[in-house]
Parts: sequence; C-alpha cells; structure tokens
Amino acid sequence: MLQLRLLKPNASIMNKFIALLIPAFLMLYACQQAEQISIEPGVSIDLAKQRFNDISHIKYQLELTIPDSIEGKIEGKSIISLHKKSIKTPLIFDFVSSPQKIKEVLVNDNKAFYSLENEHLVIPPRFLKKGENEIEISYILGDEALHRNDQYLYSLFVPAKARTTIPCFDQPDLKASITYVISMPQQLTAITNGQQEYMEEISHNRKLVRYASSHPISTYLWAFTVGAYQKITQKRNGREISIYHMEKDSAQILRNTPAIFDQVFHSINWLEDYTEVDFPFSKYDLVCIPSFQFAGMEHPGAIYYRSDLLFLSKKPTQQQLLRRAQLLAHETAHMWFGDLVTMKWFSGVWQKEVFANFMADKIVEEQFPQLNHQLTFLTNHFPASYSVDRSRGANPIQQRLTNLKDAGSMYGNIIYHKAPIMMHQLEHLTGKEQLRNGLSQYLKKYSYGNATWTHLIEILNDFSEYDLQLWSNTWIHETGRPIIRFHFEDDQLVIKQQPEYGDTSKIWAQRIKYCRINDSKETNEEVELLSAKTSIEEVLQKPEYILPTINESGYGLFLMDKNSLTYATMHINSWDDELTRGAMLIQLYENFLHGEIAPSAYLNMLQTIVVNEHNEQVLNLACSQLIDVFWRFTTQSTRLKYAKKMEETLLKRFSISKISSIQKLLFNTWTQIVTSHTGLQKLKQVIEKAEIYNFTLSDRDLSQAVLHLALKDETIDQHFVISFANQLKNEEIKNKLLFVSPVFSPNETDLDRFVENLQYKENRKKENWVLTALSFLHHPYRNEHSLKYVEQALELTSSIQQTGDIFFPIGWLNNTLGGYGSFEAMEIIDYFFKDNPGYPDDLKRKILQSADMVKRSHLIKEKYLHPYLQTPNL
Ligand SMILES: [Zn+2]
Repeated sequence: MLQLRLLKPNASIMNKFIALLIPAFLMLYACQQAEQISIEPGVSIDLAKQRFNDISHIKYQLELTIPDSIEGKIEGKSIISLHKKSIKTPLIFDFVSSPQKIKEVLVNDNKAFYSLENEHLVIPPRFLKKGENEIEISYILGDEALHRNDQYLYSLFVPAKARTTIPCFDQPDLKASITYVISMPQQLTAITNGQQEYMEEISHNRKLVRYASSHPISTYLWAFTVGAYQKITQKRNGREISIYHMEKDSAQILRNTPAIFDQVFHSINWLEDYTEVDFPFSKYDLVCIPSFQFAGMEHPGAIYYRSDLLFLSKKPTQQQLLRRAQLLAHETAHMWFGDLVTMKWFSGVWQKEVFANFMADKIVEEQFPQLNHQLTFLTNHFPASYSVDRSRGANPIQQRLTNLKDAGSMYGNIIYHKAPIMMHQLEHLTGKEQLRNGLSQYLKKYSYGNATWTHLIEILNDFSEYDLQLWSNTWIHETGRPIIRFHFEDDQLVIKQQPEYGDTSKIWAQRIKYCRINDSKETNEEVELLSAKTSIEEVLQKPEYILPTINESGYGLFLMDKNSLTYATMHINSWDDELTRGAMLIQLYENFLHGEIAPSAYLNMLQTIVVNEHNEQVLNLACSQLIDVFWRFTTQSTRLKYAKKMEETLLKRFSISKISSIQKLLFNTWTQIVTSHTGLQKLKQVIEKAEIYNFTLSDRDLSQAVLHLALKDETIDQHFVISFANQLKNEEIKNKLLFVSPVFSPNETDLDRFVENLQYKENRKKENWVLTALSFLHHPYRNEHSLKYVEQALELTSSIQQTGDIFFPIGWLNNTLGGYGSFEAMEIIDYFFKDNPGYPDDLKRKILQSADMVKRSHLIKEKYLHPYLQTPNL
C-alpha cells in the first residue's frame, strides 16, 4: 500500500476545505430562485439548474415512422409526461428544429402555442399546470445525430445531441424512462434501449413494433438503430444476450462469436460480484455497426460496437485480442458506472470513463492470465497520457463546462489515460478491499441517479486514514506532470520535482521506484515523493547511474543524466524483466522528446529492440516509436539512409518469427516505413500475391499496404487504389478506399477539390475515412505539397467540433498536423492564433496538444542537424 502521509486534518478545517471544493454549480442548484432564464443555444448550466428544480417524474414515449427508403425523412411523435413544480415558468425543451418541421404541439390534450428560440421549443406557462402535464409533439426528426448508410441507420446522442433529433431535456441529471414504438419496413430489424414487447403487421410490407419502457436513463444513452441486422443469441444461467450484426463472412462470424459471448458473460458476472449490485438493466444486446465512429458506446440494451473490433480477421494479434476484451469489459462496466450512476454534468464525464477503464483492466486480467497486466497498464495508459500532458495544451482531469454544446471537448487522453493512473494510486491509498466496498456503497446509494466525484470521496474518506480530497486536488484539478530529477549533493541522494510548466508550487504526491547502479550492481528502491525535494540519507555513495520508474508507478518526466541515458540505451535488451524494459522504453522516449538523445542513436536502439524483444507488448511499443521517430524526427535526405537497414531488420525478424500476431505487427510496421526502391518492389509483389513468406494477409492488412504503396511508389496513382478496392468483397473497406483514393492523384486540382469538399459537413460524415485520408494527405513523405492545406484545416476545427462526434476534432488535428515538423508549419499555427485572438480555450488546447509534436520534431531535428546553432529549449 502506498504510504502517503496525508493524514486528515481536524474536522472543522476539513469541513471548511470540503465546502470550498464543492463545485459551485451544486451550491447554486440549492439556491436557484430565478424564474426567468435567458435562452441560449445549446444547454446552458443555468437552464439545466432551473429545470432540475422545476420538473421531475419524466417519461417519454417516442413513436417513429421509418420510411421505406432509409434515406427518407422520419416522422416522429413524442409524448412526454412530467411533473412541474412552478406555474410561473415556461417549459423549455431542447430541440434544434425549424417551424416547418414541427406539425403540432398539444399540452394536456389542448393545442398549445409555442416558440422556437435558440435551439429550444418553449411552451408558455399559461398552457401548463402545476403537477402532472402531458405534452405531445409531432415533428420531423432532425438529421444531425442520425447516421445513415445504404442498409441501416443509427442514432448517436452522446454527449448532448438527442436535442438535434428529438425534443427533450438533454441534461444527464434529468433521467427518464423511454418507450419506443417504431413503424418500419417488414424486412428491417430495430434495436432500442427496451426489449421488443409486441409486433403487428400493418400492411403487406410494413410492421409496427413496440418496445418495453427502459429504466430511468439519461438522454445521451438513448439509442435506436434500424437495419438488415442478423441476430445470434446465447443463454447462460437464465441470462440471454444477443449480438446483432451485418457481417457477410460466415467463417469470420463463427470464429469470433464464442469469444465475444464468453467475454461479455464473464464481464457481467465479474461486475455483479465486485459491485454486489445485480446487472441493472432489462437486457444486454450488442449492436455491431460496420462504420461506427467510436470503438463502442454504452447505451443500455443496445451497446454499439465497431464491427471490425469484435469480428477480427484470421490470426489476430495479441493486441487486437486484448483490445477487444478490454472494449467489451469497458462498455459492460459502464452499465454500472455511467448508466446506473451517472455524472451530474458532463464536466464529470471522466468519472464514468475512469471507472469503466479501471474495471476493464481488472476483468481482462482474469481473462488473459498469461499476460503481464502491469505491463499492459503501463503501455496502455502512460504513453497516451504523456502525449497530452507533455504539451502546453494539457487539460486537467476535471474541466469547466458551462454549456453542453461544448461537452465534446471534455473527451481525450487525459480522461481515458491519466485518470486511470490517478485511480491506480487511489487504490494504493485506500486499499483494494476498502475501495471495492466504497464503490459498492456509492452504486447502491446513487442507483438510477447522479453523483459527483465529491460524493464518492465522501464515502471513501470513511474508509481511509488519509485526506483523499487533498491528495486528489493536484491530480484532478491541475494540468500537466512533474519533471523529476535525481542529484547527488551533500553526500546524499536528492530527488526534486517541479511542474513541467507554470506554477512551481504544485506537487504530485506519489510513490516511485528507481534503480541505482554502482560497480555493475543494481539496487532497486521505492520512495514517497511528498514535497518538491526528497532527500535519501541512506545513500552514501554517489551512484554511477540512476534509472527511474522500474515499474508501473511513478508519473512524470524523469530526466536522466547523460551517463545514465547511455547506460539505459545500451542495456535496454538485457533486463530479464519485461516490465522493466517496457517502463524504461517509455521513459527513454520521454527523454528523447525532451531533446536528450539524438534521433540516430534512438533509431539504432529501437532497431536492436526489433531484433531482440520477445514480449509482444514491448515490441509493439518499440514499433510505434520506430514509426514516429522514423517519420517525424528524420529529414527526407537522412531517412533513406536508415530505411534500407530498418526494412531488412523488420523483414528478417518477420521471416524467423513463429508467432502470427508478432508477424502481423512486424508486417504493419514494415509497410509503414518501407521507402527504399527494393522495399517498394517487394511490397508490390506482396500485394499481388496477398501473402508474405507463406503468411496470408487479410483484406484489411492489404488495404493498408496498398495505401502505403500508393503514397510512396511514383509509378502508381489513385487508379491502382480504385482497381484494388473494386476487387474487394467487404463493402466497408472498399468504400473507404474509394473515398481516400483522390488523395493519391498526381493532379493538384484533384487534391484541391478533395480538400475543398471537406468544408461541407455531408462530406465528413464518415469520420474514420476522413481521418485516414488526412493522414495520407499530410504524410511526412509528401507534406511539402500539402502544407498549403493546413491553415484551412485549422479554420475548420471549430465547425468540426460543432458538427462532428466527440473524438473527431482531436483526430482531425492529429491527422493533419501529425505529418509536420518544420518551422513553416509552426508559423502557420502561430499566425492562426494571432489572427484569432478570441479563439475558444478548449479548441485552442486541442490545437496546442497536436502542435506539440510539430515543435518538438522541428527543434530536435535542428538541434542534431545543426548542433552549433543555439536551439531554444523544448
Ligand atoms: Zn467509455
């Protein structure tokens, strides 16, 4: 257990402290008296508070008519019953609509007047009464959050997009049950939050289906999808689970369904045991959507998954298998954490994500006993968290949010990856069993309701001798990470920490491990860092080398001295323990990105890892660093020098490897870095034969290979991509390749037109296709021709945030700026900020997060190419 001496202060100080920390909006909730509220676009916090106090006991019935052609308009009728406290205030629905789309509004069976104001439908008080009211609204559904394809459509309302489709109170703390009644073409199947209850044929080609009312859930969890779904059902111990899918490859379905069912049933049982709370909803259905833009989304009763993440191709890598298990466990954990107990406001969205990840890590640990889960935790969370936290755009775990229209910007690596690291430390601090107990109480106390982090900490504080609120303050409310250095001064070892940027008083209280080496003898130690300077008096001899974080704890940039860095890069392959090798590789990369190691030396070290490393997770980490360093930290002229040797190393390791998942990893790395003439010739042959050294490649692997060949081989262009795509059976991969193909046109006007078209939101509907296209358009191999498109991409970011899904803005920026590392690119970003002085803070942070590597790439190349020039600090 972590022994931090954060003992609780006396009660009166503590109470004052907690009072200060209670989020301001909670206090405002209590004294909210205002009866008139200004109506602004989105869902403002003031409106949310007013409604929370005024309305309750909400139930929705949603009647939909899906037209014969899935592209057509959907007619809807919402019947909403609710209890209203005040007769003086209007009833304000969130609804982005237009007068032409609203047919009729009835209140308590009488026709009522209403107004449409700034994305709201407002019913004046004179039509309403105190107590029970029933409102019936007939309208055409809005399209923004309805995703359509040739054969299917699905709603996706997270974080606050239900209001763009349906009139509702789109805030997470007004939970309500929803009942769907759907009229649809006979051959289609609909899946909703509720169980199918009743079906009737209403004409020769149409049917009407009614679904059971859901439990009380927040509006962002509503879901309905209609399509030509196939259904596979399994029943175990009285529990029935169905997978709905549209996969065509029957062998692929057969191969994957047993593992999917096993993992879902196991996750549910595990969570029931851990939480002591039964599965909280009436059904668990998996809906596999081919073009789903996220990995998964936790709608109770209709959990969406991206099809290809569950239905894996032959010979999946260990990473793919692990990722699938983590995804299934993550979404299942949300049934308790997020769906049963929900954050009160979207600034607390990280809570549901941190619990889902935390539970998923534990669940998967049992499913993959052969893996080193400390290493998985380390490789999953630390690099991703550092990727944001090392930038000047880093955000704290808990962010400010005044309007739900901006809720999408809450998401990112900090909530998904830094929060689990914080949670891991919390478990050390409270003890495993105490934390489990606290979480169980928390779920029971706030079932089908809402809770904040403060509510949980109040419960956990009873189990702990430490002041958890004080401890979590830096971790949750502050940005960034510490820089930690080891010194030997005044005959003792001293460890100093300071924030990487800004306020120097911040301390990340934590326990770290390090290793000191004298005369080739390694001594491993653990130490608590509770202040800016920690002295270790027992160490009397100056260590020759000091290596940090020899395990999965210890968060920050551990800057090593020159000798220790050289020692670590020389010995990276010689430590027996894979966790040590993984931890060291992560810290070496952070030192590299700080400019402490030359790119050529780092590439040489990575090459030795490719030759020697047998642990797939460490090898995977090395390969992803290899791709980054190769493309971003070398110049066009020096790159070819490394390419040939690197390609040969990867292929040689591939040819002697017996493990298919490692071969797959090596093949994918090779296709990404191959640039030499002979390498490209080989890649072409591999694509023609669809195999390499008797290893048969899947359509997905081949399609990636085709894109990389089209990028680098000047003898081929977009027609090569198009003809390859047209041979594919898998419609999703085929259409994606066809969408991306114009990027490979040698004709500049084709590229201009492609980029021009991205201005229009209808051309950005398939977000993962757009991201793939951008990654090739701005690829370092060709980006001197694409630099001119960067400015427009930056300008579009705010429209991307308004019209796209939650991960799209950062994906858009990463895939655009990801190719650059030049002074010119840095200048474009600087000018963009100068030209837009009032740019929204959340988006500015996102740009700074992506721009961080542009700057590092430029400065590190400068430093090692022109060592005689003064390079500014990183
Ligand atoms: Zn999640």
